[in-house]
Amino acid sequence: MSVFSLDPAQIAWCAQLRTLAAERLRPLAEAGEPGRVNRPLVAALGELGLLRRVFTGSALELCLLRESLAHGSTEAETALALQGLGAAPVHQAGTGAQRERWLPEVAAGRAVAAFALSEPEAGSDAAAIALKAAPDGPGWRLSGEKCWISNAPEADFYTVFARTAEGAGTRGITAFLVPADRPGLSGSPLEMLSPHPIGALAFDGVPVGPDDVLGQADRGFRVAMRTLDLFRPSVGAFAVGMAQAALDAALAHTAARTAFGGPLMDLQSVAHTVAEMATRTEAARLLVYAAAAAYDDGAADVPARSAMAKLLATETAQYVVDAAVQLHGAQALRRGHLLEHLYREVRAPRIYEGATEVQRTVIARRLYAAAGRGSDAAAPPAGAPAAGHFPTGGAPQSTSATPDTGPSPATMRAGGLVRAAAGPSDTGRGRPSGSSSAAGPSSRPEPPPGTGAAPAGPHAPGAKPPAEEGPAEEGPAEESPV
Ligand SMILES: Cc1cc2nc3c(=O)[nH]c(=O)nc-3n(C[C@H](O)[C@H](O)[C@H](O)COP(=O)(O)OP(=O)(O)OC[C@H]3O[C@@H](n4cnc5c(N)ncnc54)[C@H](O)[C@@H]3O)c2cc1C
Repeated sequence: MSVFSLDPAQIAWCAQLRTLAAERLRPLAEAGEPGRVNRPLVAALGELGLLRRVFTGSALELCLLRESLAHGSTEAETALALQGLGAAPVHQAGTGAQRERWLPEVAAGRAVAAFALSEPEAGSDAAAIALKAAPDGPGWRLSGEKCWISNAPEADFYTVFARTAEGAGTRGITAFLVPADRPGLSGSPLEMLSPHPIGALAFDGVPVGPDDVLGQADRGFRVAMRTLDLFRPSVGAFAVGMAQAALDAALAHTAARTAFGGPLMDLQSVAHTVAEMATRTEAARLLVYAAAAAYDDGAADVPARSAMAKLLATETAQYVVDAAVQLHGAQALRRGHLLEHLYREVRAPRIYEGATEVQRTVIARRLYAAAGRGSDAAAPPAGAPAAGHFPTGGAPQSTSATPDTGPSPATMRAGGLVRAAAGPSDTGRGRPSGSSSAAGPSSRPEPPPGTGAAPAGPHAPGAKPPAEEGPAEEGPAEESPV
């Protein structure tokens, strides 16, 4: 990737993915039941070697995957993303045994993963989670509820965030890998506006032991934040893919549809609307790519860039899909029309992984901290969201107390969009060094999907990420009040 564009190999890979999504994956998605896990679709993503890429590729590749799949099949895109979200904590912080047990199955599409953080009373305010882990012999028993959990209740395992220490804020949360067949665990599906598979979970004294802990006890909030830091820009990529699909449909329709003696495209207001849709989509795309590239570079300003990318892309997609509906007229609202589908799909990403308002707060806090006007990057004002809310997904670096030492080289390379408020120690908290992502945005895609070719790098499922072998990070985000 050059500064402002993908390279030819990346462009070709995206085209292949769009074709694959439309021709191979969309029929599988259409055969599934809305709101339920579509196992044949997940299996196909595994057979095509795409799930593996979520763990072995860079953040930019993850974005390209999500954007391209979303263009042809939002269900395929979401199935892929949810496997990544649910299993990333295992990949990032799991023991060898946990990784060997689950990651190859997830990558093959045989096991379905889920990320269970949100609760009925703790959504944006994720640090307020109450699911209790009560000590029980060498382990714990989990009691409480999780809500709005994608892939629940049909997942094969859940990454569950539970409170192991009362009154300890984000430092009293532990991440557990909970197989779905544990006694005391039950769940129910939720019907939502979008076709997203989602449900609620009930924990009635579910036993978990030391072998089920992901990372360290009481340090699970960090696991959640690191996962979300990777995935937040890619939510923007999902939105860009939907926006592009809506724009393409609008172009085709307004060129073909005649009214008042000519095609709609001859009406200036129509042409200008299409131009606006395209311009905003491209701007969102560039911001998403920049955020992902910054992540891959280990840049210090990743949190603000990710927040901007997620915010702009999801809001843009909502505008573009709505405009496309308007240009189509009534037919777009007919059940089964692409735009009717996108209209339902495009709404949720403005809420999950950081509501738009929360992203704005994260951006503003970073701006003021960088300008030396914030009270303290590590101590957000009372009532302000911790960078670590599930959605916000602020990474540890987002609230680092390290004094502002000016933009790091990585920040400058990335254009210095937001001056780094965190010091160089933040660098490298993104994709662990040594992964394929270390090649940054210029890394080449692997062989075409469908070949099943699997890289044997250090981040292949089953391999331990180097970053986890280093000293534990102590991010102030874990101390942030919510
Ligand atoms: C389709 C879908 C899939 C999901 N998947 C998962 C999943 O897999 N795992 C999981 O753990 N969770 C998941 N969630 C839950 C999601 O993370 C929460 O919905 C999100 O955190 C918002 O929480 P909430 O819905 O409780 O809204 P609240 O936190 O109650 O917020 C409601 C609204 O209040 C406003 N608001 C909140 N905080 C602030 C603030 N600080 N500043 C300004 N305004 C604010 C915003 O407008 C926000 O939309 C999913 C949600 C959806 C819709």
